[in-house]
Order: sequence, then C-alpha cells, then structure tokens
Amino acid sequence: MFEARRAGRHFLQIPGPTNVPDRVLRAMDRPTIDHRGPEFQRLARTILDGLGRIVRTRGPVIVYPSSGTGAWEAALVNTLSPGDRVVMVETGHFAALWKEMASRLGLEVLFLDGDWRSPVDPERIEDVLARDRERRIRAVAIVHNETSTGVRSDVPAVRRAIDRVGHPALLLVDTISSLASMDYRHEEWGVDVTVGASQKGLMLPPGLGFNAVSEKALAAHRQARLPRSYWDWGAMLEANAKGFFPYTPATNLLYGLAEAIAMLEEEGLERVFARHDRFAHATRAAVRAWGLEIVAREPRSFSSSLTGVFVPDGVDADRVRALVLERFDLSLGTGLGKLARRAFRIGHLGDLNEPWLLGTLAAVEAGLELAGVRLAGSGLEAAKRVLLETPAATRPAARAAAG
Ligand SMILES: *Cc1c(COP(=O)(O)O)cnc(C)c1O
Repeated sequence: MFEARRAGRHFLQIPGPTNVPDRVLRAMDRPTIDHRGPEFQRLARTILDGLGRIVRTRGPVIVYPSSGTGAWEAALVNTLSPGDRVVMVETGHFAALWKEMASRLGLEVLFLDGDWRSPVDPERIEDVLARDRERRIRAVAIVHNETSTGVRSDVPAVRRAIDRVGHPALLLVDTISSLASMDYRHEEWGVDVTVGASQKGLMLPPGLGFNAVSEKALAAHRQARLPRSYWDWGAMLEANAKGFFPYTPATNLLYGLAEAIAMLEEEGLERVFARHDRFAHATRAAVRAWGLEIVAREPRSFSSSLTGVFVPDGVDADRVRALVLERFDLSLGTGLGKLARRAFRIGHLGDLNEPWLLGTLAAVEAGLELAGVRLAGSGLEAAKRVLLETPAATRPAARAAAG
C-alpha cells in the first residue's frame, strides 16, 4: 500500500531504542573491513578502552553481537552452575523476564515480589542473605533502571547490604537503560557483572550487548558449569587481549560505538547525566500539571531516562499512543506486562535537547486531549518553566574553576 512520505524526523520517544545521532549514522556508513586485520585491531582497542571509561572499570568489558537479552544470558552462564540459588527482585517487566531466563537455564531463583512501582529494597536482600547460613545463594541479580516502570534502584545500597552480612554472593546488575544516561560506576560500586546494550543511552542502533566483569566474576567463571559456548567469556577475553574477536563481530556497529563514546566524552559524562536529570525533572513537572500519576512511587527512585505515566481509569494508554503516532509521528513506550493499557512511557534518554523534549511533551499533551483525557493544566508550560528555571549543567571543569 502506498503511504505518503511524512516530512521531518520521526520522534522515537520509547525508552530504547533511541534516536541515533547523525554523527553515529555517518560513522557506520563505511565499507566493512577485515575483522582479522590491523585496522580492526585499532578499532577494537579504541572501543574496549572507551567502554571501560563509560562503565567505569579498569577490568574487561566484553562486547557481543547481540541484544541486551543475550548479555543477560552471558552474565548468568559464565558465573553460575545448574541448581545454583540466585536472588532477584520483581521491580517490573524486565526483572521478571530475566528471572524467567534464569529459571529456564536451571537456576533456582528466589524472586522477591514487588508492586512494579518501587525500587529494590536492600533490607530485604540483607535479610534473605543473613538467613542463608549455608551460603547457598551464589548471586544477587537486579535491574538498575527498570525500563517498564521508570524506577531506579540504589545499587551501592544493595552492595552495602551484601557486605553487611559478609555474604559471598556475586552482584549482577542490568544497566541496559541506565548506562550513559544515569550515574553508574561498576568498580566503585562493587558490581561483579554489569549487563549493558547499545540501543539506549549509548545512542546506537540495537545489536550490541555488553558484560563488564570483576576479578571475582572471573574467578566464578572458572568454576561455573552452566553450558556455554557462544557466550563464553574465555574465548572472548583471549581474543580481545590481541584486539580481536573469536567470531565475526558487528564491525559497523563498532564504528558507531567509537563515535558514540567520543560524543559522550566531548559532552562529558557528568553533563550527560545532568542533562538527563533535568529533562526527567521537566517531564515529571508536565505529568503533574496534567493531573496524571507517575508510575514511580518514591521521588528518590525516579528514573532520569524515562517516565512511566498512568492514564485515568476508562482511558486506554495504547489509544493515546496510537493517536500520538498517527497525528504527530511520535512513538511512545507501551505499558508492559501488568501495566498494559494502564500506562505509557515517555523516553527522554540518549541524544536529545530542549526543543526535542518540548516537542515530545507537546505531542503527548495533544494526544491526551485527543483521547478525551481532561487535563488539569498545561504540562508543556510546566516543563518550560523547569527548563527556564534550572540552568543547563556547566562543564565539570568550569564548575571546578568557579569553586
Ligand atoms: C531494553 C531492556 C532489556 C532488553 O534488551 P533487548 O536488547 O531488548 O534484549 C533488558 N533490560 C532492560 C532494563 C532494558 O531496558
């Protein structure tokens, strides 16, 4: 069927994949090279070093040609054995999917239930670990930023909970929708495996999955007995040490990754995080002005990469999304799992600026009106106020100079 071209750019305001910047698109628009040659070796070294700076580790970061789901599997099969006990927390849809994967792989999961609006509770983890006197629990696996709800959990607090009871469990953290959007520190926070992917804060198309690995995780890898082949860290680390991969990597995505890392570092990670915090703050101001409810219950756990929004009873959130797409060529995130049709999600992560955010909120506001939602006030106006009244973050260097 013929469809007329829509002018301008589609706004991809789902919480990943995100809008890919022109610079990244151009960086990938190159002939594919020999992945066993010297030019590739330079590229591999650039991206492996750069990813370490983004994840904040001096240890290895492994890159798979995969979605984030593949990187989840890699984290589990490289560190655990059949029947091992793992603690996971039901923060939302992604935590539930990771838990299902762990069960299918033959792990015994202790799944701490949740209301899909709250962060991981470190005290409950501490309690479970304290009662595990025989030390049968081998890992605690949590989602840093639950993308189905817009709830951020406190990773250092979970680390402290594990340490308070002196439990040897590994800490595995999914940072797929927080990495390069929200503050994250693999090494300083004592994380054993960080799971990431390309298509969210890193501003790349889908297709790369990451594992950052601690010394302790490497030691666990030597003992772990779950079957692994494609995902095996061993062959990866051996090849990576020479600047290569054990099988054909996603070469052109790696060109894009090198460019994305350069862009993040030109802006400065601290500024990138501050920009996301500010845009999230403006978005929440809009939601409140509309008179709608934010999915995340507690302000301390608000996500800076997306906002989940409940629609009033009797309104179908997917109808709001469909109207916004049809009339304004903008995609919003759907309500996942338990939140289907009750909520939609506004992605405000990756490569976006003030007019892009205001355009997004204007389209959402109009879509809500079209769907017959009676709005308490103008969210757009409220968001504009936040942007006018909060200064864009200054560069860390400039801030330091100013005292
Ligand atoms: C997107 C996402 C995933 C799934 O990643 P895929 O690339 O779709 O496999 C997992 N966890 C979180 C927190 C996510 O945001």
